[in-house]
This record gives sequence, C-alpha cells and structure tokens, in this order.
Amino acid sequence: MAEKVSWLITGASRGIGLELVRQLLSDPANIVIATCRNPSSATALNALASDLVNKGSLHIAQLDITDEDSIQGISSSVQDILGDGGLDYLLNNAAINVGDDIGFTLTSRALENSFRANVTGPALIAQALLPFIEKSNRKLIMNMSSGLASIGIDLGPKNASYSISKTALNMLTYKQAKIRPDLIVVCVDPGWVKTDMGGQGAFLEPHESVSQIIKVLTSRKQEHSGGFFRYDGETVPW
Ligand code: NDP
Repeated sequence: MAEKVSWLITGASRGIGLELVRQLLSDPANIVIATCRNPSSATALNALASDLVNKGSLHIAQLDITDEDSIQGISSSVQDILGDGGLDYLLNNAAINVGDDIGFTLTSRALENSFRANVTGPALIAQALLPFIEKSNRKLIMNMSSGLASIGIDLGPKNASYSISKTALNMLTYKQAKIRPDLIVVCVDPGWVKTDMGGQGAFLEPHESVSQIIKVLTSRKQEHSGGFFRYDGETVPW
C-alpha cells in the first residue's frame, strides 16, 4: 500500500483552495485537512465530502487565519486527525485582496487587514503547526503569493495593500527557509485564475493552475527552498 501523505490547506471553501482539495482527493494516498473559517456554510467543500469519486480521505476543520484562538485551535484538530503522524504539506492559500489602488491614498485599515490575513496568518499558522511538520518526511510549506508581489514583473500600482502584503509574505518565506534548512519553504504564484478574486476575465481555469501547482509542490527539493515559483515551475523574479 502507498505511504500516506498529509496536506493542510487554508481557505478551502472556494477558489484555488477548493480545487486543491478536489484534486488531492483523487489520490488514495492523500489525507487532506481542508480548513475554512466557516465550515457550516462551506457548501461546495461539504459537497466534496460525500463525492463518491474521492479516493483520498477528507477532514474539514475550522480555521480563521486572522483569529489567533482559531490558529491555536487548529493544532488540536490536526492532532486528532493525524495522531502521531506528521504533516507533509502545509498550504497557506487563504488571502484577501481589498482592491485599493493608489499608493498615496492607502488606509491603515486596508493595509493592516491585508497584513493580518496575508502575512501574520500564514506566519502564525506555520508556527502552530511546526511540531507536526517536523515529524513528517516531506516538511514542505507553501505560501501562496502572486505575480503582484513581484517588483521584477512590474504589474503597476493597482491592488496596493495586497501587493505590499504578498511581497512581505515572500520575505517571510525566505526567512523561514533560511532559519530552517531542514524544511522546504516556497512561495508560489498560481497565475491569473478564474475565481472570485481573479475574476472571470482571468487566463486560467482553477483546475489548470492547480494541477500544475501540485506537480510543482511534489517535485520541490531542498535546493528550491526559499524560492518563488510560478504554477508551471518557472522561477518568478523578486
Ligand atoms: P478567492 O477569493 O476565490 O478565495 C479566497 C479564499 O480565502 C476563500 O476560501 C476565503 O474563505 C479564504 N479566506 C479569506 N479570508 C480568510 C480568513 N480570514 N480565514 C480563512 N479563510 C479565509 O481567492 P483565490 O482562490 O483566487 O486565491 C487563493 C490564493 O491565490 C490567494 O492567496 C490569492 O492571493 C492567490 N492568488 C490568486 C490569483 C487569482 O488570479 N485568483 C492570482 C495570484 C494569487 P471564505 O469563503 O470564508 O471567504
């Protein structure tokens, strides 16, 4: 029998997070802990739980990435699900984009809320789950970034608070990788994807982005830690 592989995904109620769960469940080896801030209203995720095409096992757990009590609570949920097992993949996927544009009209509220969800949340979640990650053979953390975080790509002034916070998330990734060379910590740009955040004008369907992201994640090695990768594995300029 294939060795079990455990995954925890934040923001699994819709969009890219939901598609990650859907695709990971097609592999019987996968134990998928799908987290969302409000499981009772996560209709599409709950529907996946009764989908007969699933081969992997699905566990739905509450996690609001902006709530420190909720972040502490996820450790006991993971303990209940994995027991003595380690967490192989932590996918920090959930994020917000408040959609503010111009650098000189930022509000503290927009910037602080963006940092809380897009930087503080992923940082504290990795800290809370580190004991489980340390127990795994894989030890991979993905922080979902964006092309908008890249000064090198230069996508202009739009989505200011979001872009600034995602650039900070990239630096968090770098710091985590440097302080813990035994882990693999990467940031991933999923491309422009048709979700509530990406909008219907985006280039990629969620399944197209996610199938490639899973290949990128499962093929990352120690030498990739601290790097920034596009969904197709290309290196993204900082
Ligand atoms: P969506 O807006 O479609 O979904 C966002 C998800 O994050 C939802 O599941 C939402 O949950 C969750 N979320 C937001 N805030 C919280 C919170 N406080 N606690 C827990 N969950 C929360 O976004 P996408 O699926 O498009 O984006 C996924 C990731 O990909 C994000 O990191 C985003 O920045 C990144 N990305 C997306 C791009 C795109 O084109 N779509 C492009 C570049 C990057 P709820 O349903 O409860 O609101």
